[in-house]
Amino acid sequence: MECPNGCLPPMEERKEEKLFHRNSKSVVISDLTMYVCPDCGQESMPLSSARIVEDVLNGRIKPSGKFIAELYEISFIG
Ligand SMILES: [Zn+2]
Repeated sequence: MECPNGCLPPMEERKEEKLFHRNSKSVVISDLTMYVCPDCGQESMPLSSARIVEDVLNGRIKPSGKFIAELYEISFIG
């Protein structure tokens, strides 16, 4: 897979933890396969991962646990 910004090195496959929003709820998907450009840091989601995200957001995949994190709202920073 090539970087959409036209960088020379091929994008690297990485497993990442990604946060998504469903209505007013946040969901986290761990070990989601992403492509990351080693040059500019551009991320790209492969179709297989996009399908997983879609299934999760549509409630077709049941959660395996709860994720609790501290919330930082940008409007309070600075
Ligand atoms: Zn790039």
